[in-house]
Amino acid sequence: MSQPRNPYFTSLRCRECGRDYPKEAVHVCEYDFGPLEAAYDYDAIRTVLTRHEIEARPPTMWRYRELLPLDGEPTVGLQTGFTPLVPAPRLARRLGLTGDLFIKNDAVNFPTLSFKDRVVAVALSRAKELGLETVACASTGNLANSVAANAAASGLNCLVFIPQDLERGKVVGSLIFGARVIGIRGSYDIVNRLCSEIAGKYGWGFVNVNLRPYYAEGSKTVGYEICEQLGWRAPQHTVICMASGSLLTKVHKAYSEFAKLGLITPGTGSIHGAQAAGCGPIVDAMKLGRETVKPVAKPNTIVKSLAIGTPADGYYAIRVMKETGGTAEAATDPEAIAGIELLAETTGIFAETAGGVTVACAKKLIASGAIPRDESVVLCITGNGLKTIEAVTDAVGEPEIIGGSLREFDEQILARGTGAAATV
Ligand SMILES: *Cc1c(COP(=O)(O)O)cnc(C)c1O
Ligand SMILES: [Zn+2]
Repeated sequence: MSQPRNPYFTSLRCRECGRDYPKEAVHVCEYDFGPLEAAYDYDAIRTVLTRHEIEARPPTMWRYRELLPLDGEPTVGLQTGFTPLVPAPRLARRLGLTGDLFIKNDAVNFPTLSFKDRVVAVALSRAKELGLETVACASTGNLANSVAANAAASGLNCLVFIPQDLERGKVVGSLIFGARVIGIRGSYDIVNRLCSEIAGKYGWGFVNVNLRPYYAEGSKTVGYEICEQLGWRAPQHTVICMASGSLLTKVHKAYSEFAKLGLITPGTGSIHGAQAAGCGPIVDAMKLGRETVKPVAKPNTIVKSLAIGTPADGYYAIRVMKETGGTAEAATDPEAIAGIELLAETTGIFAETAGGVTVACAKKLIASGAIPRDESVVLCITGNGLKTIEAVTDAVGEPEIIGGSLREFDEQILARGTGAAATV
């Protein structure tokens, strides 16, 4: 075996009964159908993983590799992660926040401009370790883009399954890589059910089905990076949009692991979840004080990337929000669009619809006092606005058209001022 081995990833473990499973392409416990999650030897990791050691490594998500579920070195997505944590004082003022506000900007992640590049880097690196040659996914768009791109770069066969009514940018953003793109007439939940059947029948590596324990761990790197970029602490508040709820639970796991390893002072801060009002099953359950999530049969929102009616990790996301003193909030489609515009006009970051939901919900949480005005806040922006242009096309209007003469510029353009930014 020429690859250096990672002795820290020990097993897959059932979140319900704690039974250990071998590190294969399995994702549910045979006894209670609980989800399997990667387990690590934290005592051993503590002896090797220091702040200093991490800081000396290249600026990618793999600087935390002891805490990721691979046996050897990563082989897919080597440049992924370590996206900017951007101070956002102008947005803070608009939200009435006096504490520090930061944007964790995965809209510029590599290679496909969403946080999904992290989960795919882990899932496909593991797929290769397991000897799988065909990879696939059920996706609301961004996951398909990332699986298609990373499979192309690694020479893996690739099929991606999506609801057929996704945004053009997301569809083209998968086709361009030469993947088989299969559009299903139906919601994401129908796509996902079909993928479970196909995974069972053909044994391919579905990154978010039978490889889900590996996929999900990739999301932790968002949380590790936030802590490191804040100077080795967790923020008092983190606002995260939810589809299945996996990212939210894994950012919490990341903060908790860093605290356990002594890399940050104990405490995870409050973790708040955001969804679209037209498909907000986790938020609905939180607001009703329930721990079980009632599925949304027919999602009705322009926020397609979050439109999962039966969220696999909803129950665990609710537990995290409750345990950390977090709350849940929903945003309507017009509020999400206004959120995209507000973020863009105050930070220069163009988020997709999901990011608009995050900003809109943060605004409500600050207004309601759920996030106190003088505390520190990180908003996770998970995807890029250039993929969901349809959503804001009407809102932004059209450019002002003139001929090429200075007189037209003076009379038609300058007479109306030089732009809105200075008024913020
Ligand atoms: C997938 C996705 C999420 C969250 O997904 P989870 O299933 O909750 O982990 C958030 N934002 C965007 C843009 C996504 O594509
Ligand atoms: Zn179990």
